[in-house]
Amino acid sequence: MKRVYMDYASTTPVDERVVEAMLPYFREYFGNPSSLHSYGTKTREVIEVSRKRVADLISAEENEILFTSGGTEADNLAIRGIAHVNKDKKKLEGPHIITSSIEHPAVLETCKDLEKEGFEVKYLDVNRYGVVDLKQLQTSISEGTFLISVMFANNEIGTIEPIEEIGKIAREHNVLFHTDAVQAIGKVDIDVKKLNIDLLSISSHKIYGPKGVGALFVREGIKLKPILTGGGHEKGLRSGTENVPGIVGFGEACKIVKERMERDIEHMQKLRDRLIEGVLNNIEESYLNGHPEKRLVNNAHFRFTAIEGESLILSLDERGIAASTGSACSSKKLKPSHVLLAIGLSPVEAHGSLRLTLGRYNTQDDVDYVLEVLPEVVNKLREMSPLWNRS
Ligand code: PLP
Repeated sequence: MKRVYMDYASTTPVDERVVEAMLPYFREYFGNPSSLHSYGTKTREVIEVSRKRVADLISAEENEILFTSGGTEADNLAIRGIAHVNKDKKKLEGPHIITSSIEHPAVLETCKDLEKEGFEVKYLDVNRYGVVDLKQLQTSISEGTFLISVMFANNEIGTIEPIEEIGKIAREHNVLFHTDAVQAIGKVDIDVKKLNIDLLSISSHKIYGPKGVGALFVREGIKLKPILTGGGHEKGLRSGTENVPGIVGFGEACKIVKERMERDIEHMQKLRDRLIEGVLNNIEESYLNGHPEKRLVNNAHFRFTAIEGESLILSLDERGIAASTGSACSSKKLKPSHVLLAIGLSPVEAHGSLRLTLGRYNTQDDVDYVLEVLPEVVNKLREMSPLWNRS
């Protein structure tokens, strides 16, 4: 049976060159970077090489990159870290933090947790394409606001947010701007300086690097309170012996992404457009979720009338196709996606969704196989559905 992986937003396979780059750091170069002897010197040096590679990918400076265990920790460190140095602002008129209603749980749950500590959070509305309401952002900022956190691109529907405009608004009001760029990195050319971004989260396993490693960009001069206490690694902001092989792999993945981003973008966009057109033209009552143009080059997110997303994923898996209903993190919960509800879908519509996300290794053959199998599977499921009352 042909096998097609179309769940790159969930995770990516590790590039062979990344694996090769990591191997010596499990074997010969296993030193603790904090050690004074030469084993430590070697790993300390290689961490700095990786830091430069991560920084280069987003046009940041090396000293502005902190390594973390992934996107989740980067989001937590950014939001909690800024909130906890701004505790005194709790007394001022809120909202203290402004975010969007379609953020990843790493941001949403962190904000909800901070609400329990007395911080006020405003969750911005989005339109039917998932774009945040900039007017509402403008009018929500008040004396006590110290942080805006809006994702670069949504992990479910792929909508790219107006980051440049948000950066401008934040700067005009002297409010810090954090963005979760976990899904955007490698698919959008990001320059933190041009975009007025103060803090940005990224993760290695979405760009053909290993899992369990990521980074937070923190613009020079911005103060954060660490969420982990310990030996004072990463300038005291992220204690814990560094994941050296992971960091090396992440750095290599960033270098490769930078070298081939243009080619990858063109490739994914061509496949995505073929996929979207094929699905919408060949499946009755199929709809595209997310913005028609301002969307990630690798994201195709659909909804089908009278289809239950989970059954669709399982049926596709039986035919060798790996897909998703939305984010990997929430697909185990059977609650309708908060993102789909926020763009105005009903719970029933939200349950009939399918996310296909492409990557570097997909081919036109893969797309054509999906276009052959998907209509068959949808028709079969509809035949069994009481909601599909066609004769
Ligand atoms: N933010 C977004 C937008 C994501 O899509 C993900 C992962 O799916 C994360 C954060 C979490 O990243 P990690 O898996 O590295 O913790």
